[in-house]
Amino acid sequence: MKIGLDFDDTLADFSEMLVRLTQERFGIDLLELHRKGKPGKPQVGAERWDAMLKEMLETDLTVEMAPKDEAVEVARRLAARHELVILTARYDREMPSARRWLERYEIPTSHIIWTDRGPKAEPARGHGLTVLFDDTAKNFDDFGDHPTIPALFVGATVSPRAQEPAEHVRHHLSHWREFETLVERLESEGV
Ligand SMILES: [Mg+2]
Repeated sequence: MKIGLDFDDTLADFSEMLVRLTQERFGIDLLELHRKGKPGKPQVGAERWDAMLKEMLETDLTVEMAPKDEAVEVARRLAARHELVILTARYDREMPSARRWLERYEIPTSHIIWTDRGPKAEPARGHGLTVLFDDTAKNFDDFGDHPTIPALFVGATVSPRAQEPAEHVRHHLSHWREFETLVERLESEGV
């Protein structure tokens, strides 16, 4: 089957680096802020915040992002039996660094698709994805009547607001191994 994978906070630990750099560069504890329901951007200052995000997405900082726990191991195992399709909302200019990350961790992919911050439903349909693993609940809002099964990676993103997955998002997974189990189940059911 064709398996769709988001990149940031699904394969690569964007949030871990965001929390670390916010502390190192500005002395601000992002997790503490989020516990109070406050976003980081106003505290850091919009200009400095946006510059940091741009650097994280467009430079080798992306390559230095740690993989999510067991993401690389599970993705390689899945790739032995299935096609892996990266489906990210990154901009074009943010793709060279993402490609370098995928090369660094030797994750075999059949396609790499980026939406320039656009919705993922159409490319997921167009590429015939059986399932999409993604940490952002709102990416699945328009997957209600859709051939691709949404699999939400819960707890992978740091955010001041709780995510509110739509009712049709039935698979809430907190670890890559759980995603592997889901894929195995879909395979055994002949999906
Ligand atoms: Mg993501």
